[in-house]
Amino acid sequence: MFNRVQAHLQKELAGIREAGLYKNERVIVTPQGAEIKVKSGEEVLNFCANNYLGLSNNPKLVAAAKEALDSHGYGLSSVRFICGTQDLHKKLEAKIAEFFGTEDTILYAACFDANGGVFEPLLSEEDAIISDALNHASIIDGVRLSKAQRYRYNNADMADLEEQLKKAQAQRFRLIVTDGVFSMDGNVAPMDKIHALAEKYDAMVMVDECHSAGVVGKTGRGVTELFNLRGKIEIITGTLGKAFGGAIGGFTTGKKEIIELLRQRSRPYLFSNSIPPMVAAAGIKMFDMMSETNELQDRLHENTAYFTQKMMAAGFDIKPTASAIVAIMLYDAKLSQDMAAKLLSEGIYVIGFYYPVVPKGQARIRVQISAAHKREHLDKCIAAFTKVGKEMGVIKG
Ligand SMILES: *Cc1c(COP(=O)(O)O)cnc(C)c1O
Repeated sequence: MFNRVQAHLQKELAGIREAGLYKNERVIVTPQGAEIKVKSGEEVLNFCANNYLGLSNNPKLVAAAKEALDSHGYGLSSVRFICGTQDLHKKLEAKIAEFFGTEDTILYAACFDANGGVFEPLLSEEDAIISDALNHASIIDGVRLSKAQRYRYNNADMADLEEQLKKAQAQRFRLIVTDGVFSMDGNVAPMDKIHALAEKYDAMVMVDECHSAGVVGKTGRGVTELFNLRGKIEIITGTLGKAFGGAIGGFTTGKKEIIELLRQRSRPYLFSNSIPPMVAAAGIKMFDMMSETNELQDRLHENTAYFTQKMMAAGFDIKPTASAIVAIMLYDAKLSQDMAAKLLSEGIYVIGFYYPVVPKGQARIRVQISAAHKREHLDKCIAAFTKVGKEMGVIKG
């Protein structure tokens, strides 16, 4: 049997390569950070990590993780509800609720699981999910796992959302779901308008804060801070794997009855292992640090504003961003790949994206800014973009 499958797989793989969509892993031999070293020996500046607050290799988090290894061991060998809940998990859940101004929190192994396990227990075929067309893959998969009626609206298009809400009046309960920040453009979901439509058409709201938590809002509390909606959104999901230290772990936080039901019925929670104690302990430390100072958020906001202004002044076409994601528009797929390769040889690690990851004719290089970037890192990146941009005719020489 495998002979035939093997031939089939080889053909599939060849097709992926021919389409130019084959994903290679670049091996890094240092901790994650602004300056990294790759296996081939080059040292590069990293502008493509979700390490927004620069916490991925923060000494205080490393120390907290090491301490927890000694005090709480390595792993739990159990799901939460059997014998996999330590004091650290409960404490981290409380810290997350405090951070977002919500009532309760449930942890998952990843936000992929949080999104995969949130819809099915809460909504049935009598209900409706109204989902932004650009929502993350994990939301799309989670919606598929539920029996609710599905409605889709164009990205951040409030007229379309309203149309869908009108149609969804046929159902019992309605849930609007959106990413807080969309990862390809860096735009923020218009939560004020979404919330107003939810009130008008009697719906709940869920927001995935993976790219917005720690980043958006004056103190990094995410889109509910930015739009003055703290405590008013029923469901927030997020990850510990981006701004919040970058290790692993996800969560759903929000109304207490929702969280309570998820603890009873959410399959990735019931049937998958607890996060390791060292991750929980470092997470607690991280939220303690956030409650003491906004230094990292302030630096991230400054860095993003500085980078965006300088790049626009250099003549680059940049999507308006309200996050730490800066899309440098090139429109041409091959150009995006060639330019990213040239930038790498200049010591700048960025990724070019093109169809089907972004719409046809919308190829770009996505830059992700971090609080870990020093002014000289940003200047070096801007200089490299300017040099390569001129060479390739993207900006005027
Ligand atoms: C990264 C991301 C996820 C997945 O988070 P993990 O914790 O890595 O599984 C989910 N949703 C969005 C919007 C994301 O950007």
